[in-house]
Amino acid sequence: MRIGLVVSQPADRLDAVPLHQLADAGVWAVFLRCFEDEVRWRAPAIDAFARAAVSKGLRVFLVPAGYGGLFSPEQHAGSLFLQAHPHTRQVDTRGRRVPKACPNHPAYLEWLMSALRSLAWLVDADGFLWEEPSFYYLRGVWGCRCHYCQELYAGRQQGPLPVELTQSVAVFRQQVVAELVATVSAAVKSVDAKLASLVMPTPAPQTGAVPTGNENWRLLASTQGLDGLVLTWPPGPGSASLTGVVPFHDSARAWLPPKTPVLLRLVCPTNVTELEITLRQLAQARAPGVVLDIPHSLAGQLSPSARAVLQVVQSVS
Ligand SMILES: [Zn+2]
Repeated sequence: MRIGLVVSQPADRLDAVPLHQLADAGVWAVFLRCFEDEVRWRAPAIDAFARAAVSKGLRVFLVPAGYGGLFSPEQHAGSLFLQAHPHTRQVDTRGRRVPKACPNHPAYLEWLMSALRSLAWLVDADGFLWEEPSFYYLRGVWGCRCHYCQELYAGRQQGPLPVELTQSVAVFRQQVVAELVATVSAAVKSVDAKLASLVMPTPAPQTGAVPTGNENWRLLASTQGLDGLVLTWPPGPGSASLTGVVPFHDSARAWLPPKTPVLLRLVCPTNVTELEITLRQLAQARAPGVVLDIPHSLAGQLSPSARAVLQVVQSVS
């Protein structure tokens, strides 16, 4: 089973990530969060890290964070673009602009394509992971109701965009997110056709999917240019345990088209024994790969718990 690691260090700390220890432990890939505002100034450091990782035999996937606030919403990544272009932000059901660009705004899309092509060109990588590309949704308040979204909806549905998040609105948002994923995949593949394109939907609590527009895994799986899904377990911040991941993986496999590659992102508990048991169960269940998001720093002198995670990886991979 392939085991990847999420690396979220600031760019100026990347040279302190002990890549040899990761490679020695049998880590398959690093999933490197690339923060929009850091890429502007520190792309050479990010590229140097990617090259060093490849030289150790690791795969490198870039995870754009920020980029108009549309990706990696949990990371609170800044977006100079959004600050400079507030008119591209989504409009919520109360008429307020929210800190997230609208995927239907032409000026945003144009900038996004260009920024992602630059990133693909500046940093040598194996692929991209789109982390939670989404519309705004918080406790029933949703976006976007800007005039671009209103026009597009009216053109497709032959009626005005409802204020309620109806099934028709939910489907519209899912289609727009899938179109965005197809567009960003095409953008990076125009730089290098070999770049893989993976998408990570918003983790859904067991009570049901969060309607952020990326909750339709089947639609995403059939999106043009997409090479696989990365599904998160546990499904919400309330659950701290990895219990139940094997049935989750089995049901996701049954739900998705059979040929869709699926990786599991495990938000790791501090309990290393539980992690080891889970990884062994997944290997036995023939899960093709996992991406570990661990709570420990991966730079400098590794903490005893980070070292323990690497020992587990070594014993399982
Ligand atoms: Zn909009």
